[in-house]
Amino acid sequence: MRPQDLIEKKRDRKELTRDEIAFLIRGYTRDEIPDYQMAAWLMAAFLNGMSEAETRALVEEMLYSGVTLTHDHVAEPKVDKHSTGGVGDKTSLVIAPVAAACGVAVPMISGRALAHTGGTLDKLEAIPGFRTGLSLDEFRDVLKRCGLALIGQTKEIAPADRKLYALRDLTATVPFRPFICASVMSKKLAEGIDGLVLDVKTGNGAFMREFEDARKLAEMMASTGRAMGKRVVALITDMNQPLGRWVGNALETMEAIETLRGDLEGDFAELCLELAAQMLIVGGVENDLEIARNRSRDAITSGRALERFRACVEAQGGDPRVLDDTALLPHADKQRAITADRAGFVTGIETDEIGRVVMEWGGGRRRLEDKIDYAAGLRLHAKIGDQVNAGNPLATAYYNDESKIEEMATRLRAAYRIEDVAPDFEPLIKAVI
Ligand code: URA
Repeated sequence: MRPQDLIEKKRDRKELTRDEIAFLIRGYTRDEIPDYQMAAWLMAAFLNGMSEAETRALVEEMLYSGVTLTHDHVAEPKVDKHSTGGVGDKTSLVIAPVAAACGVAVPMISGRALAHTGGTLDKLEAIPGFRTGLSLDEFRDVLKRCGLALIGQTKEIAPADRKLYALRDLTATVPFRPFICASVMSKKLAEGIDGLVLDVKTGNGAFMREFEDARKLAEMMASTGRAMGKRVVALITDMNQPLGRWVGNALETMEAIETLRGDLEGDFAELCLELAAQMLIVGGVENDLEIARNRSRDAITSGRALERFRACVEAQGGDPRVLDDTALLPHADKQRAITADRAGFVTGIETDEIGRVVMEWGGGRRRLEDKIDYAAGLRLHAKIGDQVNAGNPLATAYYNDESKIEEMATRLRAAYRIEDVAPDFEPLIKAVI
């Protein structure tokens, strides 16, 4: 087989066989197929679609591109959560320790920033010293000792996704259901979990902007997981505005720590408690969702979840003092308030644009080798439904790179829609599958 023939086949809208998908994924993972040919195939598939059989082959090839773990040394049920990507979504940093504190082990393999969305690994690495690149032995050991372990893909686990994730990010081929399904499920199925909670985002900050597309993605991922013998619940949640009040790696880590310290106000904490509760149900440590929510809340208010996170941060080489003093996280030199130019209600926020501004400020990467500016980001003072007067702050930008501030401030202000009439209430959790 030759890669160019398979690119041509997809370009001409033909279905690839199982062997052909295997040839592409194995060849790319072993560096035998170059980025430019894989990029061309990705775009052809993105534009022309993939059948169910092709998608299944892609998931399995990506999954078996590396090892699949087992954790027989851990008695607790193993459950993870994965989000399809959003802006301001730092739920993993909260729910992994909450679930661990409630008797569920969380072997979590996460990703980095992708397109305009943030990545859990980049948020964790904002903690000085925190290592997300543990060896598999270290991963198993931290899981056993702390009840949670938070790492990135290694050379051993789903290496195909590790390479493809970066390539998709740079070739505008992210928001495609079969790719997202294969990317998420290959990592998750390799982790050695019994169950999985999926947070499928929908709205203008999500890869699936329309609810119906999010629902199809949720069903595709849930049925893939169930076919592999896993218990899966998928929540479809709102991403028509950033989650929580802070966007940017270190700022989001700070918000997650504050939530673990007991600040349970607002949409971010609401989603954390719901996802954690679903993890307890999927893990079989609780049957009743309301009781599971209360147990999750109690894990936070009692301080047990924070102590779990402290143990994990220490075990993974991070400075645990940040949990007591978030000023030790990287912080920016400069701040600028972005103010409302008229009075009214906030009726919309262009969430993807907010994500792009933070990425361009240094929160993400333009090229693979780019360095992240962990401190860059913003605080949202106004969210959808809030009433503002002209001159009130909508957001505060935190930044180091002075050269971009005028353009970024203009874009941030333009990302807010302010109108005379309050918008209808939109639920945060739109469906459970
Ligand atoms: N999260 C992933 O892990 N992969 C995707 O493709 C999108 C979100």
